[in-house]
Formats: sequence, C-alpha cells, structure tokens
Amino acid sequence: MRSGWHLASILLLLLGSAARAQEIITLTEKGGLHAAYVVPTDQFHRVDVQLIVLSGAYDDPNPSGTAHLTEHLAAFSADATVLRQPRERDIHATTYNVSTVYTNSGPPSDLEKLLRLSRAVLDPPRLPNGFAESEIDIVERETLLGERNAPRRWLRRTVLQSLYGTLRGRADNRVEDLPNLNLDTAYQFHTDHYVPSNVSLIVSGKVLATALNERGRPKIPDELNALLD
Ligand SMILES: [Zn+2]
Repeated sequence: MRSGWHLASILLLLLGSAARAQEIITLTEKGGLHAAYVVPTDQFHRVDVQLIVLSGAYDDPNPSGTAHLTEHLAAFSADATVLRQPRERDIHATTYNVSTVYTNSGPPSDLEKLLRLSRAVLDPPRLPNGFAESEIDIVERETLLGERNAPRRWLRRTVLQSLYGTLRGRADNRVEDLPNLNLDTAYQFHTDHYVPSNVSLIVSGKVLATALNERGRPKIPDELNALLD
C-alpha cells in the first residue's frame, strides 16, 4: 500500500513537471540574427544573455587557435566599448568546436547593459595599444595549460589527423601553431564569422516573466526589441 502511494506520488510529480515545461519564445523580429529566443523564468533574480556565434575551433583557419584568440579580442573589446575599460571583469566567453558563446549575466535591472555588451561583440574589435598583442600570450598559456590537463587530446588529435588527412579544421594542430597566432588573421576571422546571420541570441531571466502582453504571454522587453531593430 505504502509503495503504491509512493508510485502514485512519483507519477503525479512527473505529470506535474511535464505540465510545467519551460516556455521558450522564438522571436520572429530578430534583427538579422540567425535566431533569437526568450526563456522566461521566475526561478532566479537575474538575467542571462547568451550570444552564440555559430563558428568555433572547427572553423579555424591557419593557424589553429584563431577562433579562440578572436573570442578574447571580441569579449574585451565589448567590455572596452560598453564598460569603458577592457579588464573590468573576467572573460565570460568560451570557444567550443562549432560555436563561441558569450554570456553576460546580472540583475534584471541590468538587462539593457547586458544586451549592449552582447551586441558589441559583433563590432570590429577595438582595444588599447598593446592590449590585443598581450592576449596572444594569454591564449598561448591557456592552450598549453588545457593540453597539459587533458593529455588524451594529443591522442585524439593524432587519430583525427590520420582519419581526415589534414592538420586543420576538425584535426587541428593547436600546440604546433601557437607561435603563428596573429592579430590580422583573428580580425579577418571576426569579419568573416561575427555577422548577425551567423549569430543566435538567448535571453533568459526573471524580468521577462513579470510583464505580460495583451495575450497573457511574457512581454518581450523594450531593451531587447531596441537591440534587434
Ligand atoms: Zn581563452
């Protein structure tokens, strides 16, 4: 009997959670972006804005590591543009194999600033003299540290290189190419890949659930509409 009740309560729980599936609003007015989504939630008193460039390490030209260097330049340039200084905070971006994700988070009242920080990632990187060059050193150190912490990558790379018969793209040459990292190739990578049609935006957070439009659905905040115009 007891276990029967137990089973029933689990079923109710499952049914309940299925009924409360997370709402995801796909924006049709998306300002030339590949896609834009709003995910309203009441669970946290914060907003997260993710700008996803649909290019990553697999899109590396020669040398490998260019996508990663571009990520640093674009992130700090956005800081420099919006916050007036590039070292305001730690970098909130990650280069994956097929995407590069920039995340800006803050209280709901910061939404407008978070959106401007995200949008500025698409502007041509502008950094103080010497700053961009110093990021090459940082990317080199991050890469060497990452390789040391994940020794199996060496093995995987060797396998991929023999599989694809190439040193680039899916079978990158990350460590050997480090001395060749340069700003010109990174800026060109930015020009080629950091265009709105190659970018998706996800805005999730509490503030979005507080305002309802006339149909009772969460209202898209004016700040987001302004950004997408
Ligand atoms: Zn990095």
